[in-house]
Amino acid sequence: MNDDQTPGPRQAVLAMSPDQFRAIGHGLVDRLADFLAELPIGPVTGNDTAAALRALLPAGEIPEQGELAEELLADAAMLLTRHSLFNAHPRFFGYITAGPAPIGVLAELLAATINANVGSATLAPIASAIEEQTVRWIAELMDYPADCGGLLVSGGNMANIVAFFAARRARADWDLRQHGVSAGPQLLVYASTETHTWLHKAADLSGIGTDAIRWLPTSSDGRMDTTGVAARIAADREGGGQPFLLVGTAGTVATGAVDPLPELARIARDQRMWFHVDGAYGGIAASLLDTEDTSLVPPDLAGLRQADSIALDPHKWLYAPLEAGCVLVRRAGDLRDAFSYKPSYYRFDDDAEQPLPNYYEYGPQNSRGFRALKVWLQLRHAGRAGYRRMMADDIRLARWLESRVRASDVLKLGPGGLSIATFRYVPQVGPLDGTRAEWLDALNTELLDRLQRGGEAFVSNAVIDGCFWLRACIVNFRTEAVDIDALVRLVERIGAEITAADFALTDPSAR
Ligand SMILES: *Cc1c(COP(=O)(O)O)cnc(C)c1O
Repeated sequence: MNDDQTPGPRQAVLAMSPDQFRAIGHGLVDRLADFLAELPIGPVTGNDTAAALRALLPAGEIPEQGELAEELLADAAMLLTRHSLFNAHPRFFGYITAGPAPIGVLAELLAATINANVGSATLAPIASAIEEQTVRWIAELMDYPADCGGLLVSGGNMANIVAFFAARRARADWDLRQHGVSAGPQLLVYASTETHTWLHKAADLSGIGTDAIRWLPTSSDGRMDTTGVAARIAADREGGGQPFLLVGTAGTVATGAVDPLPELARIARDQRMWFHVDGAYGGIAASLLDTEDTSLVPPDLAGLRQADSIALDPHKWLYAPLEAGCVLVRRAGDLRDAFSYKPSYYRFDDDAEQPLPNYYEYGPQNSRGFRALKVWLQLRHAGRAGYRRMMADDIRLARWLESRVRASDVLKLGPGGLSIATFRYVPQVGPLDGTRAEWLDALNTELLDRLQRGGEAFVSNAVIDGCFWLRACIVNFRTEAVDIDALVRLVERIGAEITAADFALTDPSAR
């Protein structure tokens, strides 16, 4: 190597001329538009085995030489459009996963092209301002104080975990960040047994441990039963613990139940605890509280406005492409107090009167992508009115599904709320003795397996009071009433097929 010689011109294989980018990009967009056009008439899922999927990929070790971008993108588009599960399909009702809004998809391309690092305002000037406005608009959508703090994170889990760390820092009266959890009394958190497993991870990761979670019972509709909570907190405090966090859920994963949030807010205030609401799924539905149809959402959702922090998920009911979660804290300074460290190599302090946030100080991430852009554009594309309409339509379709289930003589309706409905196949035949409950669980488990494998529609399951139920969640602006009707017919058909095959074995009168 000769250091004195000027290096010759580079031939970076990853470089692409603007004209190539244009041509290849247009080609990809054309393929994706075709995919979107055909999506509703194709299957919901490809349903390949793990072995078949691995066999689709190039054999052998990492390629030594590169390949042409155009061919690679055509190949990848083919793989993905044929072998995925399509949550944008109008008959996808599984879990709580939305199909992406097209403008959000395009926003991802725009964000990636600029590649702003939204860790600091210096590295991402306009992007930081957009994220700040996005957070404020999301708060306004739910009628949460617009001067709150917050940031975009990867999803509901991270949003809840970030809020948990903010609460822990704010309510520990010793220097917990330096001295750790063992330097003070045992911190205790209270939440219902229907709480999502983010709480286990938060308690675990934070060093508090899952033993510090005081699980509160729920009634059969999945809502927290607050009887005796205040007394239990007082007793724990007597016992030397430090109750610091009360968690309510706005839309449980299983049945969309909303905890009695106004009452939880009152208890937290009386007990000087931090009140956090996990609204990953249902928090945004608070925007429907003051619409004309007052039966759309439970009035308890209003209690979310009193929370010290809220987690919500734009990649659920704001229909953003993955990933987009959002955490809001009532006092903007609480996130910085919980997360800020200033390394010597960052000189990002701004002496402007109202500097833009340096988001690396507000959460666990350092370099950060521009998740806010897609959410910001979607909020502008739909507006508050557009979002209200889409969410209300999702809820009305869930109630329509419930009415179709009620009208069926082989389906039984379970608890549901917001845009979730639960139901199961309960035929007139089958054992009537003590084995019936088990038989119905096995029947519905098999039914769900076949339904998911069939690819005509996709629902997931919920275990309610120990029984297996089918669960449909509608966070999908592409779904119409005909898709709901088709789902009901499909469940009835598969149920009949299973019982017909099974009948001779299981029904004593048929022997
Ligand atoms: C989905 C969900 C979560 C987790 O959110 P992710 O985006 O999957 O990380 C947490 N809580 C509730 C109530 C949820 O519905």
